[in-house]
Amino acid sequence: MTQYLFDPAPVFGLPVNGETAAYPVNRVFCVGRNYVAHAAEMGGEVDREAPWYFTKAARHALASGSTVPFPPGTENFHYEMELGFAIGKPVFRASTAEAADAIYGYCSGLDMTRRDRQQDGKDNRRPWDLGKDVENSAVLSPLTKAADFGEVADQRIHLEVNGETRQDATLREMVWSCPEIVEHLSRFYHLQPGDLILTGTPAGVGPVKPGDKITGGIDGLDPIALTLSDPE
Ligand code: MN
Repeated sequence: MTQYLFDPAPVFGLPVNGETAAYPVNRVFCVGRNYVAHAAEMGGEVDREAPWYFTKAARHALASGSTVPFPPGTENFHYEMELGFAIGKPVFRASTAEAADAIYGYCSGLDMTRRDRQQDGKDNRRPWDLGKDVENSAVLSPLTKAADFGEVADQRIHLEVNGETRQDATLREMVWSCPEIVEHLSRFYHLQPGDLILTGTPAGVGPVKPGDKITGGIDGLDPIALTLSDPE
């Protein structure tokens, strides 16, 4: 056994409905611009040639229902409500059938974003890490197994800030489906159990401030909630 100088960072365990064991999160991939109306509100268009991605460190994952401080380094902190899905088996250069079969389950997710720092990145042709790889920024509900959720179709996806609806769409509006994302992403990564993908947000993103309570949900999945306390 390797002796470590200090305790390694803990693994984030995502609860799974119907299981006593948790799903250990290894990597978090996020899809950019996967809804036409959101791409438009960001001043862009969806790319219909291929999906594209950014990543968040797994240790930025956080359980739904948490209260966290408003993060440092932003004056424009945004919510993004998203469908998340978890990989259940190793898959590399997946066929369409293998891609669908690799999906273990689904969850509700928030991709919390420093929009001002993301915009800096766009303006200066620099990476998005300060905008997207934010501590406590991947908020995740418990997983529902794929067989229990059924097909991704017309399920409503919605988000409220202090009870007021801000995002309201259906999963049908996603440009790239979950299996298409697996098929494409597995050309670049040896996807494996523990890998979790957030699939992009519908229109209606906007800022939150200390004291705000964010809630959201997707039909058939556990709801999500995040409360922001005062900055540290
Ligand atoms: Mn997002």
